[in-house]
Parts: sequence; C-alpha cells; structure tokens
Amino acid sequence: TAMDHHQTAGELPPHVLIFPLPMQGHINSMLKLAELLCLSDIHVSMLISDYSHSRLRRHASIESRFSRYPGFRVATMTDGLPDDHPRAGERSMDIVMSLVRVGGTEFRRVMETTDALSDGGARRRVSCLIMDGVFSFAVPVVEEMGIPFLYFRTISACAFWANFCFKEVIEAGEIPLKGKDEDKYAYWKREDFDLPVTSVPGMEGYLRRRDLPAFCRVNDVNNPVFQTIITESKRTARSNGLILNSFEDLEGPILDQIRNHIPNLYPIGPIHTHLQARLVSKKTELPLPSSSFWEEDRSSITWLNNQPTKSVIYVSFGSITLLTRSEVFEFWYGLVNSGHRFLWVMRPDSITGEEYSVPEELDTGTKERGYLVGWVPQNEVLAHPSVGAFFTHSGWNSTMESVAAGVPMICWPYFADQTINSRFVSDVWKVGLDMKDSCDRVIVEKMVREVMEDKRDEFSERGVRFAELAKKAVSEGGSSYSSLNRLIDFIKSSV
Ligand code: UDP
Repeated sequence: TAMDHHQTAGELPPHVLIFPLPMQGHINSMLKLAELLCLSDIHVSMLISDYSHSRLRRHASIESRFSRYPGFRVATMTDGLPDDHPRAGERSMDIVMSLVRVGGTEFRRVMETTDALSDGGARRRVSCLIMDGVFSFAVPVVEEMGIPFLYFRTISACAFWANFCFKEVIEAGEIPLKGKDEDKYAYWKREDFDLPVTSVPGMEGYLRRRDLPAFCRVNDVNNPVFQTIITESKRTARSNGLILNSFEDLEGPILDQIRNHIPNLYPIGPIHTHLQARLVSKKTELPLPSSSFWEEDRSSITWLNNQPTKSVIYVSFGSITLLTRSEVFEFWYGLVNSGHRFLWVMRPDSITGEEYSVPEELDTGTKERGYLVGWVPQNEVLAHPSVGAFFTHSGWNSTMESVAAGVPMICWPYFADQTINSRFVSDVWKVGLDMKDSCDRVIVEKMVREVMEDKRDEFSERGVRFAELAKKAVSEGGSSYSSLNRLIDFIKSSV
C-alpha cells in the first residue's frame, strides 16, 4: 500500500531541522526559509525557545500557521533565561550568551528525543541542520550523528564579512572603539571614529570606524560577547555552507569576499519576496497568519488608505530597540516640525525610564499628521502607496524589506550589525541617509525634509531599481532563485 511504501525510510523526504536565535527578526526569516523548503516537499522541524513559542502563540501558533504543510513540526527548548527577563535592548545579547551556556545540553536532548522529531517513523531522522550564528555548540552533536550542517545568518553579507574580519581589525589597531568610562553620547562625538577602516578587504574607501558593527564599541577586546562573535564567525567556515538573506546585485562584491573563505554560499534573498514568488508560481496564495510577537494593528492600514501618495514617513525601530524618553522626544519634535505625515510604531515595551506626558506643542501636529501604533504588518505598510520613506533602526530584515519595496530610508542604527547596514544604505547603495551617532530634533527634521523633498526623486529612482533587481533575483533563472535550488539539491542529495 501507499502507507507501507512511505514507511520505507529510504523513500521518505529529507528532514531539515531549522534552529534560529529566538528573536523576532531571526524567527521571521527562518520561518520563511522553512516555508520555502516545505514548498519543495522537504520535511522541516523548527527548534525555538519555549519563550518565543509562547510569544508566537498569542494570536496564531506556528503550528496552525503551517497546517497546510503536513511535513512541518515545532520542537522547543529553554533559552536558559527566567520568564520575566526583558530580552530587549542591550540585554537581548543575554539570550545569545545564555544559549551558548545551556545550548549544548539542550540541543543534544532534542536530537536524542528522536520521537518528537521523527514522529515515530513517519518522518526520517533529521538529515540536515540549518542554524543561526553562535550555535557551534550544536556542531559536535550533529558531527557524531553524521548530519551535515549549514548556517543561515540572518544579517547582511557586509555585517557578516566585517564580523569575520574582526581579528584582523584588532590586529590593525582599528578597534576597540570605546574608552573605559565613556557613555554613548560621549563616544558618538569622538573624531577618531571618523578614521577610515583599512583592514576589512573590499570595504576600503567608505568604511569608517563608527560604521563597524557596534560590537566593536567595547573598551576591551576581551569582552566575552565580542570574543564569542569573533570565534563563532570564523567557525562558520567549517560548515557545509552559508545561507544569507541577500542577493548578488545588492552585495555581490562582499559575497565574493566571503566566497574566498566559504565557497558554498547561498544568497537567497530577499527571502520574503522569494517566498511570495514561489507561492505565486505554485498558485498557493492562501495568506498565512503572521509570525509577530505583538498583535498587528490593522488600523494602521486604514489610516494609510486615507493619506496622499508617498506622503507618509513610516517610523519603526524594530523588535529590540529601547529608547530613552529624551530620545523619543527628539524624534517626535523632529517629525512634527518637518511638517510631514508619519506612522510611528511605538512598541509597548520600547521606552525606558520615567513616566512622561506628551508636551502640548506636539499635540496638534501629531493629531493632524501623525498616527501612533504598537505594531504593524510591516511589509504591507512598506508596500502601501502612501508611504514615501522609512525611518528605521537598520535591522537587516527591515532593510531588506525596504529595499525590496523600493522605499528610501533614514537610518538610526541602534546596535549590533545595524551600524554597518546604515553605511551601506547611505554610501554604497545610496538609497537613504545615515543619522548614526546623533539624536537631535534639528537633524531629524532636516533629514526627513531631505528624503521627502529635495532628494526624493534621486532616492526613489535608485530604490525602484533595486526593487526590480530584487524581484529579478528571486524569479526563475535569477541568482537567488538558483542559489535556493542549489541548496535544495544539497539537502536532497545528503539523505
Ligand atoms: N516588524 C513588524 N511590525 C512592526 C515592526 C517590525 O512586522 O511594527 C517586523 C519587520 O517586518 C521585520 C522584523 O519585525 O521582519 C524586525 O526585524 P529587523 O531585523 O528589522 O530588526 P530587529 O527587530 O531584529 O532589531
């Protein structure tokens, strides 16, 4: 019978275990990869933390989201942090460091509990692991079991490449960047931050020290987080390959640099556009419920529907950024004073410190031209005709989503890879402005005007061109399309 036939292990589809860092941005892109693999008849298990599993369950569980893919399962493990840990701002790095500590034991437990993953024989044992950065604790486990593994780094190629070169940057004396007791407003002003970086091959000429990933903003290179990033980045080269959410026409020269060390490179982005393209070509158009940690406020779309074409600046600093009250007010004054309309995502947990009330002089401008929400369906917002620009923290998902939608950016990078992404946006791709290392209402107002008025046509023209290139990359025969097919072939050939 067909049943008996399927129970022959040799006939079962490959089974990929996908293991993201349990944070919103990482989970978003890894779930898209999961769906892309499911569409190619590969079985997928997603390993996430209990914490993010329950966050995702708030309005739609991943299991129900993926119910149309019978080969999809979820496995969970602890991230080692107490439930009430904030998992935001700088303390989001605690998730990484905690996983580095508890991950080895937890991952082994998951892999050995084969029932959970193989469904009592209905599915093959895990035949390939795809995991996030800093997870080399998983390597001995899969090596013992003879399972090939790849990395999917959900950051930009430029950030990955800079991280990969950190050792050389230290040797060149170009980092550490921060003095012992400096706070962020003090080191933002330092002139030596404007010196060029010469030790990252391929980035000479436009990279300054302040553009290096913000991990370099330590006063001691022996800082454990920094050291973890250095060793883990280098270890990526020992894998069976590296998947990136990027595309040749955007980051080609940097991808070539990485290829010198990691020849099996799979740039398959923009991953959300890629998924959309494959769903359309398979005539599977059912919209899936989102994978947001917060409830999406659809009134944002209704509000946008009532605004003129390209008149709105969309403002969001992602899922992790924490702002002080005074930073929020600099942005707020700048936005209101610019005279432009704005849709601003203020996550409920995103402002630190004291209670505040809104100054009267912001009230009228906000009511007339602004709309504040807790969380939005971002891709729908970026694709909306009323949106003219994106004021962003330059998280990589947001950047790719903006590039794919052809929307110019104003960048206010907050931490991690964001400081290098924003430099590429402003000085390499030239589709926006970089506001890094300042937080001043006058500059906010000036940049909003620049991007919405003076430079509007120039940025839009380039933005639209990149959006077309992105679309081409994920269409049949395109570079990302071919990369994904190569990846699928690898997965199918390694059972
Ligand atoms: N996002 C969203 N709604 C919002 C704000 C953000 O859906 O109101 C999504 C956004 O589309 C992106 C992710 O959250 O996929 C944020 O990831 P990113 O890498 O940009 O930044 P991070 O949150 O990791 O700092």
